[in-house]
Amino acid sequence: MKRLYLDEYHPKSGLVTAQHDQCMPPFPVIDMHAHLGPLLLGENYAEKYDTENLCALLRDMGIERMFSLELLWGEGLARMERKLEASKGMLISVGSVDISRALDADFENLVWRTLRDYKARGMVALKLWKNMTLMGEQFFGKNLRLDDPHYEPIWQACGEVGIPIIIHVADPPCFFEPIDDQNEHYACLSRHPEWSFYRPGMFSFAEHMQMQENVIRDHPNTTFIVAHVGSYAENLQKVAQWMDAYPNMLVDVAARVDQLGRQPYSARAFINRFQDRVLFGTDFEGHFDEARTRSFYHTHYRFFQTRDEYFEHPFPDFLGQWRVCGLGLDQDVLRKLYHDNAVRVFKL
Ligand SMILES: [Zn+2]
Repeated sequence: MKRLYLDEYHPKSGLVTAQHDQCMPPFPVIDMHAHLGPLLLGENYAEKYDTENLCALLRDMGIERMFSLELLWGEGLARMERKLEASKGMLISVGSVDISRALDADFENLVWRTLRDYKARGMVALKLWKNMTLMGEQFFGKNLRLDDPHYEPIWQACGEVGIPIIIHVADPPCFFEPIDDQNEHYACLSRHPEWSFYRPGMFSFAEHMQMQENVIRDHPNTTFIVAHVGSYAENLQKVAQWMDAYPNMLVDVAARVDQLGRQPYSARAFINRFQDRVLFGTDFEGHFDEARTRSFYHTHYRFFQTRDEYFEHPFPDFLGQWRVCGLGLDQDVLRKLYHDNAVRVFKL
């Protein structure tokens, strides 16, 4: 018998059950968490897809509107908006503020100026990313806490002008743990060791969750859509506690079908309970080819709409090395998740 390395093991499931792998949504879908710009596609992102072709393909897959979440402002944002212009409003550009200037004396002014400008131009949200607490070394020589007073103007200004924040905090808990035989994302981290935050000088996962809670609690008039199921899809009981305590907190489900789908009973109960505050996002990347795009959305719809069992989630090459079971959500909940919650929260 041949000894296998872990990355050589690709077992075929012997399970014979219902298969709905061409699933389509019963209503138009708003994907509020996608990336069509430099963050994941690189600086030459504009060459990586044709805007009109992408829209046609997405429309064919049931997508009515899509948000492109990018760390852009100023000329970079203008360039992104020009790239999406041909979509005629279907692809919506969401910008950010330059957090590398958080220690500058005029940061507060910069934030207010930026946010007032965004409001005047009808920007639907502000995108913030994990670099606020994880990549400070390149800007400030050390990491800032999320609840650092220097970031305070962002929370204040967004609350005051009424722009919701879509924020990605930390990463899965095991990205903060040793990459060893106990790490459930070993396969992913061994291929991408640069994704690990297990090193001196980094805040722990637990510290991140505390900082995140502090910021949400201390700014009740600011709306926080915390990406990736509140940063903690592994612990829906904890996320539910926050959702109960902080009505200004919402979550999206982007890139966490792997986590939700290995706890389908808990996930279904969670989405039903917070059905007005869970938003459909996917982490779609604009450079996916047609086949990948189609199977990506089919898998999402299959997950939320059917009770198919033990199938591959949308990011099998990284994230969880396991299969998932569908949630089979009711139609009224599905409509809120796919569409109505986003319309209400982002005033579309
Ligand atoms: Zn994302």
